[in-house]
Amino acid sequence: MQIAIDGPASAGKSTIAKLVAKELGFIYCDTGAMYRSVTLMAKMNNVDYSNESEILNLMSKYKISFKNDSDGQKVFLNDQDISNDIRSVDITNNVSEVSALKKVREQLVNEQRRIAEEGNVVMDGRDIGTTVLPNAEVKIFMIASVHERAVRRFKEYESKGIEVSLQKLEDEIQQRDYKDSHRSVSPLKKADDAIELDTTGISIEEVVEKVINIIKKK
Ligand code: C5P
Repeated sequence: MQIAIDGPASAGKSTIAKLVAKELGFIYCDTGAMYRSVTLMAKMNNVDYSNESEILNLMSKYKISFKNDSDGQKVFLNDQDISNDIRSVDITNNVSEVSALKKVREQLVNEQRRIAEEGNVVMDGRDIGTTVLPNAEVKIFMIASVHERAVRRFKEYESKGIEVSLQKLEDEIQQRDYKDSHRSVSPLKKADDAIELDTTGISIEEVVEKVINIIKKK
């Protein structure tokens, strides 16, 4: 079974997808982490974020992998744990430029489809229901108000000791949504057969329950 969860930045997709996957014993695939990892590769090697051929060259040299441990899912670039590095403000604000590159997307989409073949999967991202897994049995398009999404991100940064104003976060979230939904290749878009789920003002537990109920009906 394939569960696709798409939506704009900080709508709660990965938090919910992870919990749903755990409850159902499904594989969890965080596709945003893959685009973030490629952005980090470029940064580490001083490659311009628009330099597609050099970025493809780097992608052939590094392996992105996921490993589950007691703290959750960790992301590795070859043997290096990059779970925290890919969530930095700098990577967050530049990932949309890298994710707009056509050939980068082609490679990552192939890899995402390969992961989905390993078993039942919950996959979250921007183009899962429209492009990566168009035949997914369940498609959820998760949204929340910009203010609520900024507050969630604010709390996440606060817990890591990163200082940033709420207004700045609202602006950054809106900019990232704009870039992700206006790129030419697989823009962020609700699939025609996706169920829209607004998580504004709803607790994580309630959203997980709603998603599980949608899946069970299938
Ligand atoms: O979900 P997350 O915020 O980690 O995604 C980071 C970025 O990766 C998005 O803003 C988007 O530019 C890109 N992305 C994408 N397609 C996906 C998943 C993420 O373009 N399926």
